Amino acid sequence: MTAVHEPITTGSHHTPNKPRIAVLSYHTSPLAEIGGPEVGGMNVYVRELCQALGSRGFALDVFTRRSSTVAPEVQPFGPNVRVIDIDAGPAARIDKDELPHHISTFTRAVAAFADEERNSYAMVASHYWMSGVAGIELAERWHVPHVAMFHTLGEVKNRARDTEHESAERIAAEQSIIDAVEAIVVASPHERDLLTNLHGAAAERVVDVPLGVDLELFTPVPKSRARTQLGLRHNETLLLFVGRIEPLKGIDVLIEAASLLSQQDNVRLLIVGGDATAMPEIATLREQAKRLGIYPRVSFLGAVDHAQLPLYYSAADVTVVPSFYESFGLVAVESMACGTPVVASNVGGLATTIIDGETGYLVSPLTPKGFASAIDKLFADRHLREAFGEAGHRAVERYGWPSVADEIASLYQQLLHEHAALPSGV
Ligand code: UDP
Repeated sequence: MTAVHEPITTGSHHTPNKPRIAVLSYHTSPLAEIGGPEVGGMNVYVRELCQALGSRGFALDVFTRRSSTVAPEVQPFGPNVRVIDIDAGPAARIDKDELPHHISTFTRAVAAFADEERNSYAMVASHYWMSGVAGIELAERWHVPHVAMFHTLGEVKNRARDTEHESAERIAAEQSIIDAVEAIVVASPHERDLLTNLHGAAAERVVDVPLGVDLELFTPVPKSRARTQLGLRHNETLLLFVGRIEPLKGIDVLIEAASLLSQQDNVRLLIVGGDATAMPEIATLREQAKRLGIYPRVSFLGAVDHAQLPLYYSAADVTVVPSFYESFGLVAVESMACGTPVVASNVGGLATTIIDGETGYLVSPLTPKGFASAIDKLFADRHLREAFGEAGHRAVERYGWPSVADEIASLYQQLLHEHAALPSGV
């Protein structure tokens, strides 16, 4: 399966007979507040992709497990898009290990919702393995194509760091999804290789489309203005981390790297991300910073509203992405879009989005020393930082939503045509 690159019908808000797509985002809602352990890049991506496709004339119903009692069952979410909360398990946030137990209830309830509304879906698009499991059954029931996106793979996480213990159930489920679906969207060539080499996915069913970034939001703000707006000091050198607080993100490696920098006194490390459930992990990281004698220079800021992040990236001198694995790594692209160089692990999608020695540095092996020496080089040379920042800003054009959404829309149209499910006029 290769995406065709033909112009896309932009579609009005009320396109008649537009194909209706069931988007499955079982374990986390695109409307969830970003920053918690399960709420990150995938939420941002599903939210923005659905809105972009909705404005191109697709009708999308995004099904998610109800995790609170306050949300209405059906919420309109931009042109042609609805988010539908499905009762499956407790209407509360539940432990990640408990989530798989409610997939079959979710699947039955989505089917019942479709029957009740007399809706016929022309395609299933699933995000993450738990949605993929539901997607297999729904696509079979409706006789429609299923396009899956994993975001991460269990086997890959387990191999990336010994702190990870993804279940055999997850890994087996991922294999069944790979074997069942019509297409799999991957965010990087690295993920494509993993799917074909590790899981035997048929290469023609794997489509490589990078994640999109809102380049109108993520744009440089003059550094001094950004710092003033955020109440940050002008005389400090700022190192920034943004992301979910979890071991795979390598924040411990970054803290140790910060303690090894040759220029120490004026450096501040800002750590953005994490909600109340991240507190134990944050406590461990604070202890580490104390032990290394840099505690006063590390600030844990908690989750920051997505729309505020351009100020943080612009205020920073260097953004660090020390992850043990990233299938794409939105944070790196957001930082480059704001003109701030990135020092990142040479893994997964980061190895593609960052141009080593031009828009940032790729570090391997992933040692604190390796990160410290790359950060040192950038801290020592303002002109280098500016040159990298400008190059980064230019390099991210490729990840703007208009072209990314066009590629996904082409793929969807192709799948719909192949399955003769596309109504005339679209
Ligand atoms: N993010 C946010 N506020 C926070 C922390 C993270 O809006 O406090 C967003 C960040 O801007 C990015 C996403 O969460 O869009 C993280 O995506 P990434 O691909 O870097 O990591 P993932 O969560 O997919 O592992």
